[in-house]
Amino acid sequence: MIKGDTNAIEVIIQEYQKNDIPWFIGYSGGKDSSSMLSLVFRAFMKINKFHKDVTVMYCDTGVENPIVTDYVYETFEKLKKECLIHKIPLKFKILKPKLNDRFFVKVIGRGYPTPTNIFRWCTDKLRINPVKQLIEKDDKAIILLGIRNTESEQRDRTIEKHKTSNEYYLKQNGSSNKLIFSPIINHTLEDVWLTLRYADLPKSIDFATIRDIYQDAESECPVYRETKGSSCGNSRFGCWTCTVVRKDKSMGNLIENGYSELKELYEFRNWISEFRDNEKYRCDYRRNGIKGLGPITLEGREIILMKLLTAERISGLNLISDEEIKRIYELWEIDKCNEKYVEKTSFKIN
Ligand code: SF4
Repeated sequence: MIKGDTNAIEVIIQEYQKNDIPWFIGYSGGKDSSSMLSLVFRAFMKINKFHKDVTVMYCDTGVENPIVTDYVYETFEKLKKECLIHKIPLKFKILKPKLNDRFFVKVIGRGYPTPTNIFRWCTDKLRINPVKQLIEKDDKAIILLGIRNTESEQRDRTIEKHKTSNEYYLKQNGSSNKLIFSPIINHTLEDVWLTLRYADLPKSIDFATIRDIYQDAESECPVYRETKGSSCGNSRFGCWTCTVVRKDKSMGNLIENGYSELKELYEFRNWISEFRDNEKYRCDYRRNGIKGLGPITLEGREIILMKLLTAERISGLNLISDEEIKRIYELWEIDKCNEKYVEKTSFKIN
């Protein structure tokens, strides 16, 4: 076994046995969380007595890259079976944002412009809050995240700021009862790939698939807030609709590598990142009544919905759910009946 893995497994066993605080493992399907999960699995193979809940959680925002989501759902199913075989009591939980917080309900239902660096309304609603809601049911919780010291300068600065006396633990902003534990904090990029490459178990975490999906992916959208403004877009492990970055290189690369079903999604994303700035389809007033670039107009939202449904039909992928469409129609009706909702200046009643 790789030396770094032996150390990490020892640390995991030691920390698991230390107290009764439940563990929540953040899993995205990416290399770091996969390698961490692999280590936890192998550590648990060495434990005979399990005394607390350990939940592996994946946040399905509804706009995840479909290639990654399919892989994660499949992996979860395989892992459940492997855990049964080896008598490892891991729980698996798929988290979803509340209906009103979903990406298309916000954009098409309420007229939110798709996110930018300046107005990034999405990360809390789509990723952080579903995780928080699960974790806050317990007074105390330990969140296992595949964070590493050497990932980026920005990440290093964040780690420095949140350090505790135990090198594997980080403080969570605004919560003394929730700690972050990263057993791979000292692992290098090479260590992570070696762990995935040479781990004999769990078999469900498939090195070749992760390597193929990855290729040029650079970062992941965080599921638990490490720092305000940590980078997010341009990743295979983020939303396919992400317009925080100008160009989604990772999606472009996947299409070049044969995932042609993503072409419609890629074009939709590029189209909407221009469309959201078209003032013709933006209200002259914000929702608080102040003059300024407001929500996308009802006409604009209808255009987006039609375009999305066309992309869904051509790609053959499920891009929006029926309950989201139903909620969008309800929100349109609410705006139509709301006297305070004003689209253009000429209609403003003073
Ligand atoms: S990937 Fe982009 S759209 Fe999705 S939550 Fe992160 S910043 Fe927002």
